[in-house]
Amino acid sequence: MIMKPDSMLKDFFLGFIKIHILYHASKEPIYGAEIQKELRRHGYQISPGTIYPTLHRLKKDGYLEQQSRVVSGKVRNYYTITERGRDALDKSRNKIQELVTEVLEDGR
Ligand SMILES: [Zn+2]
Repeated sequence: MIMKPDSMLKDFFLGFIKIHILYHASKEPIYGAEIQKELRRHGYQISPGTIYPTLHRLKKDGYLEQQSRVVSGKVRNYYTITERGRDALDKSRNKIQELVTEVLEDGR
């Protein structure tokens, strides 16, 4: 991440990163390097050492499912959102809306 955030910010950002992952996995199957690039575009400098364990964790907890595909002779793991993941994303959307309304709009 950009400026060596303290641990509270690290927690926040990890939450934001998980929401990004769920969101993108709800649109199309995603893979590690691609999501890393996408997160970089959003300003999160996250390493494969963070992204892969996060994807595995989300899979283990039932939010993502994994399919292996062979791409140019190499096995690549793709992740798509599950029912449980969609449910979590929907609940997060409501919370994000509420947070944005209060913190960004009200708080100005
Ligand atoms: Zn994104």
